[in-house]
Amino acid sequence: MTVHSSLSDAIGNTPLIRLNRVSDETGCEILGKAEFLNPGQSVKDRAALFIIRDAIASGALKPGGTIVEGTAGNTGIGLSLVGASMGFRSVIVIPDSQSQEKKDMLRLAGATLVEVPPKPFKDPNNYVRYARRLAETLARTEPNGAIFADQFDNTANRQAHVETTGPEIWEQTGGKVDGFICAAGTGGTVAGVAAALQPKGVKVGLADPMGAALYNFYEHGELKSEGSSISEGIGQGRITGNLEGFTPDFVCQVTDEEALPIIFDLLEHEGLCMGGSTGINVGGAVKMARDMGPGHTIVTILCDYGSRYQSKLWNPDFLRDKGLPVPHWLDGPEREVP
Ligand code: PMP
Repeated sequence: MTVHSSLSDAIGNTPLIRLNRVSDETGCEILGKAEFLNPGQSVKDRAALFIIRDAIASGALKPGGTIVEGTAGNTGIGLSLVGASMGFRSVIVIPDSQSQEKKDMLRLAGATLVEVPPKPFKDPNNYVRYARRLAETLARTEPNGAIFADQFDNTANRQAHVETTGPEIWEQTGGKVDGFICAAGTGGTVAGVAAALQPKGVKVGLADPMGAALYNFYEHGELKSEGSSISEGIGQGRITGNLEGFTPDFVCQVTDEEALPIIFDLLEHEGLCMGGSTGINVGGAVKMARDMGPGHTIVTILCDYGSRYQSKLWNPDFLRDKGLPVPHWLDGPEREVP
């Protein structure tokens, strides 16, 4: 019998699931790492745990202290849950454009939530900059002090994937893995897995949603973006601290029009109810499979659970408003009782 001594021990060691349709279509083995099975239902639990552990080890985070972060949601959920299990309070700054479900979950997890209008990174009121200033204030005013988790530039985030996600993929595939690909929010996942697996000969790819600037940067040397995406938690416009030193072997752009049918298929045919970034990742894995040719094994990330996007991605009215396809079973005659 194995008993975990706390929530932290239940983070990671997620299974790899064969994605049957895209594997059969491409002749490759496309495997999804089921990060939605983490306690906070996303890949970001790993980063949250490593950031907190690192801050405790350095003495920056003291017993009863406050963790402040700017986040699209999932990192905040991870920080709040892991923080609760260790006696820390959390204050989360989130762009108000993020899904209601993530905001509700953050409040449920005990976080104090500060909602701000979405602004570009260079704007002083961008959610990350706002969070950094708030952390500086709370460090002075809170009785047990406060830290800024700083997921974008704090490389404890990337280190989580160097030490856990990358090695898990290697062990779970018995070293029979040719490629890894995912999108970047902070870049911690892609750069961390790359640091672990590129030295073993695994090719690492970056899948960029529309509206992000990394594809143009790695392909043409220029941080330039066009278009937009409904995916949340990904789409980076700068080289974050976590992306520094990372060089992808393959880069591609994945549009929402390409990603959405994949997400709908994953639910309809494989029972996997996912969030939008997973569609970009699996779309990227399909492109990488086509580039590498049949017979290869490619791993990607199933980032977070779809119930977090019931009011957006899984809402026919939202999709129609955006001019995006609506899955037939959400809207079609199948809804009628026969
Ligand atoms: N998918 C979702 C849903 C996320 O919340 C995030 C992180 N913001 C990512 C993907 C990207 O992960 P990373 O920050 O490690 O690049």
